[in-house]
Amino acid sequence: NDTVHRICSGQVITDLASAVKELVENALDAGATTIEVRIKNYGLDSIEVSDNGSGISKEDQESIGKKHYTSKIEAFGDLDTLETFGFRGEALSSLCSVSDVTITTATALESPKGLQLKLDHEGSVISKSTVASQKGTMVSIHNLFSTLPVRRKVFERNCRRDFSKSISLLQAYAVISIEKKFIIFHQTKASGKVVQFSTNMNSDINLNIMNIFGTKLSSNLVRWQDGFIEGYISRPHVGSVRLSSDKQMVFINRRPISLPKLVKAIQEVFKMYSMSQAPFFAINLTLTEGTVDVNVSPDKRSVFLSEENFIIDFVRESLQRLCEGTAH
Ligand code: ADP
Ligand code: MG
Repeated sequence: NDTVHRICSGQVITDLASAVKELVENALDAGATTIEVRIKNYGLDSIEVSDNGSGISKEDQESIGKKHYTSKIEAFGDLDTLETFGFRGEALSSLCSVSDVTITTATALESPKGLQLKLDHEGSVISKSTVASQKGTMVSIHNLFSTLPVRRKVFERNCRRDFSKSISLLQAYAVISIEKKFIIFHQTKASGKVVQFSTNMNSDINLNIMNIFGTKLSSNLVRWQDGFIEGYISRPHVGSVRLSSDKQMVFINRRPISLPKLVKAIQEVFKMYSMSQAPFFAINLTLTEGTVDVNVSPDKRSVFLSEENFIIDFVRESLQRLCEGTAH
């Protein structure tokens, strides 16, 4: 049973990026406005996510590491109009089964006192101590995949690639999060503690893009707003050499998602107007809840769209109009 649980955990926590993603989504679900991520040694040593969200209430504390425990879903009917990222209660229990998890948390009532909980691989609380803590939660993960030796070896081998995938994912959450502050640190023996990127309480995603990717990139973007599309894309330039970008971000109803067909369609149109350069873009599609299914994969990155062809055609034609209007 234990083995089954560990194998199944692979479904949610498959790599460093999925661990980081689940922790950040929990912070966002808790209503945090400041999220700090500290990664040590490409995640091989530890991953820590702190937030200033609601904290974990007394009645939830004993159960949060247990499989399928969630405080977020009242009735099953809520699945259609999901407001939170999490609802399955799988992330913390999966993290527990593949790593050493410590949680420090305080609600508004308890702050400036908080509780530090250590969880075992079954998700049970093995120690509790009172510590000083502002309102919010810090989840620390040590020795990721230490319970799955083969996965740990693969992680050690691919840690740089997994790390950069994690940073890309964090960038996507930071770009789309308006009026929230993100700060991401990476610490290695060789270079000490380095800020990877940070954002401020910005009111527009363009300012988040500027904080993360710099003014050179952000000042070369045009606003793309048309129907259900809202965001920014590189200004198409004909005749002058511009930098290609490998950053393409698609959000549906403000969730980072993976939709390769759409990315490809956008790149194809853009290249016709911009001497084969690949664009940077960050666009949010506001779609009616009933037409999107985010529950296809455990990580909620893959989606089903009931109107996929219509959506892709609309985006393609909209970008053509934008390029006709702005290319020079
Ligand atoms: P889910 O997000 O699907 O509910 P998780 O396993 O990710 O499941 O988390 C389990 C529960 O732990 C959450 O429902 C929530 O009550 C609590 N929790 C986890 N992280 C945080 C956090 N950063 N702040 C407040 N509560 C949290
Ligand atoms: Mg969650």
